[in-house]
Amino acid sequence: MNMKERVIKVLDELNLDAVLVSDGYNMRYISGFTGATGYLYVSRNRSVILTDFRYTIQANNQSQGFEVIEIGKGGYTAAINDLLDADQTKRLGFEDDHLLYANYSSLNEKLHKEEMVPVKDALTKLRIVKTADELEKIKMAEHIGDIAFTKILEVIKPGMTELEVAAYLEFFMKTNGAEGLSFDSIVASGVNSSMPHATPSNKKIELGDFVTMDFGCLYQGYCSDMTRTIVVGKASPEQKEVYNTVLKAQLAAMEVIRAGVIGKDVDKVARDLIDSTKYKGCFGHGLGHSVGLFIHEEPRFSAGENNAILAGVTETVEPGIYIKDFGGVRIEDLVVVTENGFENFTHSEKQLIEL
Ligand code: ZN
Ligand code: ZN
Repeated sequence: MNMKERVIKVLDELNLDAVLVSDGYNMRYISGFTGATGYLYVSRNRSVILTDFRYTIQANNQSQGFEVIEIGKGGYTAAINDLLDADQTKRLGFEDDHLLYANYSSLNEKLHKEEMVPVKDALTKLRIVKTADELEKIKMAEHIGDIAFTKILEVIKPGMTELEVAAYLEFFMKTNGAEGLSFDSIVASGVNSSMPHATPSNKKIELGDFVTMDFGCLYQGYCSDMTRTIVVGKASPEQKEVYNTVLKAQLAAMEVIRAGVIGKDVDKVARDLIDSTKYKGCFGHGLGHSVGLFIHEEPRFSAGENNAILAGVTETVEPGIYIKDFGGVRIEDLVVVTENGFENFTHSEKQLIEL
C-alpha cells in the first residue's frame, strides 16, 4: 500500500470523506512536505497541501502527486471551505490531539454543512512501524551521536561548565552531518545529575562528578537519542554500584526485547531489577519510548503500555537511578525491534568511563 492508500484506509475505518492533517510530522510523513505550515487534505478524490506563498514552491518540489493550493486573503478557513464544497465533503476528520482549539473553532463555525470528526491518533499510528528507509536515517542520526560522544570525552575537563559541554556536543553533532538537534541537550553534573531532565547550567564540572549527557540530533528529519553517564576522575565505590545497577537493569530489559513483547513487560524487567536493590524507588520514569520524526513517539516501554511491540518499531532503553543530593545515572540506547530480538543503533561504550 502506498501512503495515500494507507490514509484512505483510515478514512474507510472511520467512515470519513476526508481528513485535514495539521500535525507537521504527519504532514511530512504522508506528503513529504517539510514546511510544516499549513494543512494537508486527503480525500478519496484529492490530495492537497494548503499553504501560503512562502512555501508553495517548496511544497510543489517535495510532494509529487499532491496538489498545492496557495491560501488567499480569506486565509485557511476560506480555502478549506472552498475545497470542501468542491469535493462535496460531509464528514471531515481532524487531529483533535493537535489542532488548536482556536483554529478548530473558527473552522467549525464557518463550515456550513460539514461535520468535523476527531480522528484521535489514527494518522500518527501510521508512523509506528518504521520503513527500511526510515531506519537507515535513524541509524545514521544515532551514529552521529556516537561520534559526538567519542569526541566529547577528549574535551571534558574539570572547570568546564555544563553549558560548555552541551555546546561542544552540539558542535560535534552538527560538524558530523546533523542538521539540527532532536531535543535540547541535557548535561547534568554532580548533584544535578539526580534530576533526570536537568537543564545545562553554569555549574562547573568538578573532579569526582557524575556527568550525564542525554542528547540527540536530526538527520534527514529523523531523530536520534542517547544517554551516557561518566565520572570525571575516579569513581567512588557508591558511584560504581549505582552505575552497574543501571547497566544491569538495561541489559536485563534488552534480554526480553523481541517482536510481540508487551511494552510494560520490558519496563518491568528493568524496574524489578532496580527495585530489588537498595535503590528501590529511585527509577522514577518509563524505560523507553519510540523515536522517529519526533523524539518521543508511541509505543513505549512503560507501565501503561499494554500493546505488543511489533518488528520495525524503534525503542529507547533508558533506565536510571536518581539519588537526591548525591547524583544519578542514566544509560540510554536506541534499538529497533526485530522478529528474534533487536538491533542496537547505539555503539558507544557502556562500561563506566572514568576520565
Ligand atoms: Zn534521551
Ligand atoms: Zn529518550
